[in-house]
Order: sequence, then structure tokens, then C-alpha cells
Amino acid sequence: MDTSQYSRLTLLERIDFSEELAVFRVRADEPVDFTPGQYATLGLMNDDDDRPLLRPYSVASPPGETELEFFIERVDEGVLTEKLWALEQGAELWMRDKIVGRFTLDPEFRYHLMVATVTGVGPYVSIVRDQLRALRADTLDAPRPMLVVHGASRSWELGTYLDELTSLADEVDWFEYVPTVSRPWEDPDWDGEVGRVEDVLRKCLDASSFDPGDTAAYTCGHPQMIENAQGILRRAGFEDDAIHEEKYFVEPNGT
Ligand SMILES: Cc1cc2nc3c(=O)[nH]c(=O)nc-3n(C[C@H](O)[C@H](O)[C@H](O)COP(=O)(O)OP(=O)(O)OC[C@H]3O[C@@H](n4cnc5c(N)ncnc54)[C@H](O)[C@@H]3O)c2cc1C
Repeated sequence: MDTSQYSRLTLLERIDFSEELAVFRVRADEPVDFTPGQYATLGLMNDDDDRPLLRPYSVASPPGETELEFFIERVDEGVLTEKLWALEQGAELWMRDKIVGRFTLDPEFRYHLMVATVTGVGPYVSIVRDQLRALRADTLDAPRPMLVVHGASRSWELGTYLDELTSLADEVDWFEYVPTVSRPWEDPDWDGEVGRVEDVLRKCLDASSFDPGDTAAYTCGHPQMIENAQGILRRAGFEDDAIHEEKYFVEPNGT
């Protein structure tokens, strides 16, 4: 294989949140640059025809680091994810050098409302960590207010991001985090929001101080959530050009 457009990565660790959900931490030889919110094309060498087996994954870590983080769901009979879960620490992965995508902060708007199912929080984590770092380094004058609504069936599927984003929201005034769980009967200790992410979005829109005319909305993850959330946003007065999406897959019915 011609590897000139790829970087070799080493798997540092996999942090499991359930049998199907994990963070993969990998190391590149050089710091990796991109715009927060973008996705990398990540994969393995395919023994059969010597071509890599590649899929897009949003980068959850901020740019400019040698360690990269990906929040990944293992898909039933998924060709790449089955193989990713079989990897041992120290295994080799490949990543296309160009990290791409338009799912990045929209500079036209002051406020940023971000909605995700499970792994769809990845791009927002990168964006939020990047802003936090810029504020701490004094390279950004004024913080951009951000609200992340993050849904999963059970709270442990929100991963380490539940604690990280909850703590950050307690610490700074420019960030709010609203996690929600749609199967609370399977998670009896959960005392946060319950219901599907789009239902909680509706509540957040009613309660939020964000001016709808000056807010960009972002929807990421499951295609059905994206469709539902965008309907809610439009009915709340969001114009099409203020609504952004990153669909992680297409449902068999074509959604
Ligand atoms: C821009 C972009 C960014 C992405 N970022 C992430 C990310 O950060 N984390 C992540 O886990 N995935 C992400 N994905 C999805 C990822 O690229 C793969 O599609 C997924 O990991 C399945 O790959 P696979 O080879 O195991 O399955 P495949 O063999 O390629 O697919 C098997 C089937 O499963 C469907 N499928 C794919 N993903 C899901 C899912 N989550 N739930 C149900 N069915 C699914 C496919 O449409 C296909 O029909 C992203 C996709 C896009 C387009």
C-alpha cells in the first residue's frame, strides 16, 4: 500500500463504557492539526487485498496533540468496529493525513447549541476542550457560549464525558451541559434529565437564554434524532442556515 497520505497510529488504550461503547486513545508520531469538530479517516490494513479498511470518526481531542481520542460504538456485524475491538494495546492503526469536514463552529453566530446521541458528542468535546484551552492560554478574548445536550439509553453510555462536561459546566459560565437518559428504569441511580435527547432539547429551548436569532444549532449522531431535532429547531424559529448536521450512518429506510 502507498502509505504516503497516511499516518501510522499506535493504540494506547481502549476505555470501555459498555460492551459496545469505548474511547480509543491513539498516538501519532507528530502533533495532528485540524479544526475542532472535524473527522479523521481511520482504519486498519486489510490483509486480503492490502488496502486499508477505513471509516470516518470524529476526533474528540483538541488539535495540535500527538494523542488522539475517538468515542466509538461497536456496530453489530460492522466490518471495521469488530476488528477494532479485537485490537490489543500497542496495535497499529492508520489515519488519512487530511482531517476534514464542515461540522465546525459557525462563526456567524454568538451562541452555539449542540445536540448529540451517545458518540455524537465527540466533535463537541473537541470544540469545548479547544475553547477552554484557548481561554486559559489567553488566545481567545471572549468565550463563545455553548450548550451541549447529550443523550444515551443509560448514563454509563455517556462515557467519561458525563463527568468531564458536568465538572466544566460547574466551573465556567460560558458552558452548559444537559445529559439525558432514555431508559431510566435500567439506570435506577440516575437523577438527571430523562427522555430522548430531542424531547430534552425542546425543554432546553424553552429555558435557554440563547437568542434564537443569534444561535447556531448542531446535530450529531443517530439520523433519526437529527431529523427529529431539526424539526423541533425549525419550529422554534431556527433558519436552515443556522442548523448543522453530522449523520453517522444512514438507516436502511434511507433516513
Ligand atoms: C462524518 C462521520 C463521522 C463519524 N464519526 C463516528 C464516531 O465518532 N464514532 C462512531 O462510533 N461512529 C462514527 N461514524 C460512523 C463510522 O464511520 C462507521 O460507520 C461505524 O463505526 C460502523 O463501521 P463498521 O465498519 O463497523 O460497520 P459497517 O460494516 O460499515 O456497517 C454496518 C451497518 O451498520 C450501519 N451503522 C453504522 N454505524 C451505526 C451505528 N452507530 N448504529 C447503527 N448502525 C450503524 C451502517 O450504516 C451499515 O448499514 C461516523 C460517520 C461519519 C459519516
